[in-house]
Amino acid sequence: METANRILDYFGSITPTEAFFWLFIQNILQFVLCIGGGLLLIKLFSKKRIYEAPDILSKKELLLAAGCVFFNSVVAFGGWLLWKEKVIVITRELDWTCLADTAILLLLMDLLMYITHRIVHIKGIYALVHRTHHIYENTRPLSLFVLSPLEVFGFGALWLLVLSFYSSSWLGIVLYLLLNATFGALGHIGVEPFPKSWIKIPLLQRLTTSTFHAQHHKEIDSNFGFYTDIWDRLFGSLNKAYQATFEQAASKS
Ligand SMILES: [Zn+2]
Ligand SMILES: [Zn+2]
Repeated sequence: METANRILDYFGSITPTEAFFWLFIQNILQFVLCIGGGLLLIKLFSKKRIYEAPDILSKKELLLAAGCVFFNSVVAFGGWLLWKEKVIVITRELDWTCLADTAILLLLMDLLMYITHRIVHIKGIYALVHRTHHIYENTRPLSLFVLSPLEVFGFGALWLLVLSFYSSSWLGIVLYLLLNATFGALGHIGVEPFPKSWIKIPLLQRLTTSTFHAQHHKEIDSNFGFYTDIWDRLFGSLNKAYQATFEQAASKS
């Protein structure tokens, strides 16, 4: 773990070009892990398809995804600059408080992303920012990265804003980013790897499943949440057929 603190020291000592290079590499790695992990889950749970399989991969999807990886690196570079300027403060603890940081970041981002997701579904704003993500109804792991540059920067700005106000440990941030990528990938694989009993388990049932976001791509006026279904339940936007669709996909064999 001390090695990781040394990585933080290294990032403090490098030039902007070097920082961009490493953040670009980190984003490419995250992309490869999301796609690889997603494809593996599709293979393992191929019988538990939620909706139809997607069409053949188009050049447009690939280009948009490549752009997303690049622009995500620009956002991360913006974060590096704000950290260097001490607008973002990252602490070095390596104890239980890191888990508390992850939980706080997750809940805070969950609420903010629910609100912004509802905003980008408003007519006019939708066409400008969010329609790109909804071009493909039947999703695949790559769909997570099929976003307009405006949306990438919008999400990035929200994330950096939260980090500017909430001083977290680096471990808390890393765990949050890993969970964010996991939830993102799960929501787009198109199969349901969660066990049928999942939505009956207290507390855990509040975490979103693959069906949850797949359903948002099918019926875009429901399931706006990302990590939890709390806000959809509270504001009445949860898809009425969520439980039935989940159980149907999860019980296929
Ligand atoms: Zn999506
Ligand atoms: Zn949407």
